[in-house]
Amino acid sequence: MEQKLRDILKTNRSYINNGKLPTYIPELSKADKNALGIYISDLNGEEYGVGDYEYKFTIQSISKVVTLLLALEDRGPEELFQFVGMEPTGDSFNSMMKLEIVSPSKPFNPMINAGAIAVTSLIKGSPEEKFQRIVDLFQKITNNPNLQINENVYLSEKKTGDRNRAMAYFMRDVGVIKGDVEKNLDVYFKQCSLEVTCKDIARIGRFLANDGMLPETGEIVIQSKHAKIAKTFMVTCGMYNASGEFAIEVGIPAKSGVGGGIMALVPGKMGIGVVGPALDDKGNSSAGVKVLRDIADLYNLSIF
Ligand code: GLN
Repeated sequence: MEQKLRDILKTNRSYINNGKLPTYIPELSKADKNALGIYISDLNGEEYGVGDYEYKFTIQSISKVVTLLLALEDRGPEELFQFVGMEPTGDSFNSMMKLEIVSPSKPFNPMINAGAIAVTSLIKGSPEEKFQRIVDLFQKITNNPNLQINENVYLSEKKTGDRNRAMAYFMRDVGVIKGDVEKNLDVYFKQCSLEVTCKDIARIGRFLANDGMLPETGEIVIQSKHAKIAKTFMVTCGMYNASGEFAIEVGIPAKSGVGGGIMALVPGKMGIGVVGPALDDKGNSSAGVKVLRDIADLYNLSIF
């Protein structure tokens, strides 16, 4: 298995050159463009890591899946979907274009920035409690008690996040977000700045592949109907406006982040974490997408 995964890394390394490091969060431009790693964690307890699977990167948008799970547990789908929609946008992840075109106004889905900011605002507790609850959930499902934020990325994002700020203020104006906008944004910037490895995100994938139950202990952390909602969003919106193409070419639920990570899973079987910080024009890891395509091809993983 490891040898096959190493071959896949080798074949797809050149796709790094099709990507660029993001600069809109200045600190992310300092990432190692050439890092490329895979980690697979399956439900039989087998784990395989190849390449730069210990490389640390910030989780960014992959965090949106976990905050969605927490908000669903806190509010239930009926309340949550009053504030955020269920449809793909076809626009980039940080677009604000569609915020104003539906009535009553709400972000299209929880995987775009606007939707994720709204979802984070729905998590119960003071801003400090919210963030602590988010970290606790991450630590539990990754089985990594050392998970913490990258302070430099957090400060860099907070300083330059005016587009997110603009959307958040707009959403308060239309009643999607309540309370202190800056404090809500601060929780969002922090959740995006959590530092992880491929192994951590593979574990999140495996947890979802197991429908919200921790495989080691059998503990039900998230109700399976909520895990199902999150996995569905991963298929329809997880790779932003490349989700359709990804569903055709790879065919498994996946969520990417501008830190270069992609968290993917095969229901009932395994979680897969991939990292490659160079991004394509949609904001997905350019080599990471190809690596996942080859893994899915080789093991016939498409769910379709
Ligand atoms: N923190 C990033 C942002 O708000 C997350 C976006 C992403 O990973 N696509 O822009």
